[in-house]
Amino acid sequence: MPGFEIFDESEKQQINEVMEQGFTFRYNFDGMRNGVWKARELEGMICDTLNVKHAHLVSSGTAALTTALAAAGIGAGDEVIVPPFTFVASVEAIVLAGAIPVFAEIDETLTLSPQGIRAVITPRTKAVNFVHMCGSMGHMDEIKAICDEHNLILLEDACQATGATYKGQSLGTIGQVGTLSFDSVKTISCGEGGAVLTNDETIYNNAHMYSDHGHDHIGMDRGAEGHPIMGANYRISEMNAAVGVAQWKKLGRILDIQRRNKKALKDALSQYSEVSFRVLPDAEGDNAGFLSFFLPDETRAREVVKALGEQKVPGVFYWYGNNWHYFKNWTHIQQMKGPAKLPIELIADRPDYTQVKTPQSDAIMSRTISMLINLSWSEADIQQRIDAFANVFKK
Ligand SMILES: *Cc1c(COP(=O)(O)O)cnc(C)c1O
Repeated sequence: MPGFEIFDESEKQQINEVMEQGFTFRYNFDGMRNGVWKARELEGMICDTLNVKHAHLVSSGTAALTTALAAAGIGAGDEVIVPPFTFVASVEAIVLAGAIPVFAEIDETLTLSPQGIRAVITPRTKAVNFVHMCGSMGHMDEIKAICDEHNLILLEDACQATGATYKGQSLGTIGQVGTLSFDSVKTISCGEGGAVLTNDETIYNNAHMYSDHGHDHIGMDRGAEGHPIMGANYRISEMNAAVGVAQWKKLGRILDIQRRNKKALKDALSQYSEVSFRVLPDAEGDNAGFLSFFLPDETRAREVVKALGEQKVPGVFYWYGNNWHYFKNWTHIQQMKGPAKLPIELIADRPDYTQVKTPQSDAIMSRTISMLINLSWSEADIQQRIDAFANVFKK
């Protein structure tokens, strides 16, 4: 998945163009910047590639989620449906917005299941935070239909799925609003950065204003701009955007390499009858940043993880047992621990997160292993993995 693996002269050259002007702010000061507008340039590139009307860059994927929630009108007391298999930022952004995370079950797509979503909808449900984990999608037609039927906002977290598509539509552009992350280990890296995607004018205007203290960005004099709303500062710097400009030009190459490398491993693993694969509702649209597969049960999955370690295969993730991506292991979130009192503590009938149970997700995640697909693998690196598989898996 990581674009940093193919950093070269082009990222340095892009940063140099910014530093030669000595100007790192993304807005205004037209006279000083000699026509260098890296954030704007990257936003244009994202819109073109992903076929979306608006892409608004911010300082991180987490900032993109926070901005997307606010911009789409999701706030205090609103229930937002989230998966238990995700990154902590999904939950953090909802809690910091004063909204209420509601956990629902995933299916073998490793994303929220249509039935799981239906089961937790209440009159307070405002949105679904649909997370496209590990580069791929869920059953998007059904998900979209449920959201439309219940008048819910579909927020697509495509932070791990840059460049992925579903039936030709870019992930992150199917719902009313979507997010990308460009942190250090994502498909495209800005060092740190993120983007809000939308085809909706109101959401876009809210997003650019909210992420910059409510500035309306009208005219050429920042000091004279209006402030229709309050906001905060989630701006990206021109230096980070510059790295992204160089990286974005490599997206096609990154996807090609990932898809080729993933296919080699998946073909090899297909020979083993005990292995089955993550369900991909549109396999062609997978960004191929990870290969995720299932073993028959938890015991066997844990044995395989251990054996792959002994065979010195790096980049093997057992999410059910690590504290990065699965709710079961997040005691700080179960206990809603912040440094100060959180808005959710004012909601008397909030869920008790220590009591949240997602047995179907547990059953799936306890059998799931993911392998990171790297860009830098040589033929020998791929062969080493395939040889290791022969020592680990049962025919
Ligand atoms: C990385 C990630 C984020 C947050 O992105 P940052 O840029 O690291 O803040 C949010 N959601 C998911 C699913 C992610 O993988």
